[in-house]
Amino acid sequence: PIALTRVKKSFGKLDVLSNFNLEVPAGQFLAVVGRSGGGKSTLMRLIAGLDAPNSGAVTIAGEKVDRLHPEVRLLFQEARLVPWQRVIENVGIARGSNWQETARAVLADVGLQEREEDWPTVLSGGQRQRVALARALVSRPQILLLDEPFGALDALTRIDMHRLLETIWADRGFTTVLITHDVAEAVALADRVVVLHQGSIALDIDIDLDRPRRELADSRAVGLQRR
Ligand code: ATP
Ligand code: MG
Repeated sequence: PIALTRVKKSFGKLDVLSNFNLEVPAGQFLAVVGRSGGGKSTLMRLIAGLDAPNSGAVTIAGEKVDRLHPEVRLLFQEARLVPWQRVIENVGIARGSNWQETARAVLADVGLQEREEDWPTVLSGGQRQRVALARALVSRPQILLLDEPFGALDALTRIDMHRLLETIWADRGFTTVLITHDVAEAVALADRVVVLHQGSIALDIDIDLDRPRRELADSRAVGLQRR
């Protein structure tokens, strides 16, 4: 689990998070919404170990986070691919043995098995985000942090990405923290939605799904075909 305990984070005189407590159980899909400048990306950087709190503790599986955590992967609004590397090289960042096979398998998971030899620049925005998602998943991280990952995509591509994320999440069961401005997206995808307001949690809602996630993803796919 991820835990933030009495966390304070300020930049100069600006208190972004104060006496902030949050626990995310392993395997949970948490969405965080809140107004612009409210501290969502700051929260994500603290969890990832990219920044440190002024006081309080950030832990993953009981261990203090004090560097980029090896079990954490991040996805941002921009894909941030390396333009001079082909798709497969962007995904297979850790070049161990069989890296190409592993990268190919993940590219298939995101529906881009045909594009491994392409350069990032020829891909659409949605396809680039799929590559970024594949790159995040290739090492089988326990925690995936998503900061407005679909914010720059058109509405239909966003729905495709929702279904993709849902299916992969149902398969792999990593802990997910999704930051989004889109409340409908938060409610549709997450188990739990937290509203961040003025440095603390103003609302914390469990989204009770009485069906297995996989079934939900399937039924939604059917719903889309019907239209
Ligand atoms: P958005 O929805 O627009 O992405 P956010 O909720 O992600 O907003 P943050 O990026 O976490 O907001 O920023 C929270 C506040 O902290 C903002 O006022 C921002 O200007 C400030 N801030 C963030 N990082 C720094 C920094 N490195 N130095 C100074 N101020 C910062
Ligand atoms: Mg942000």
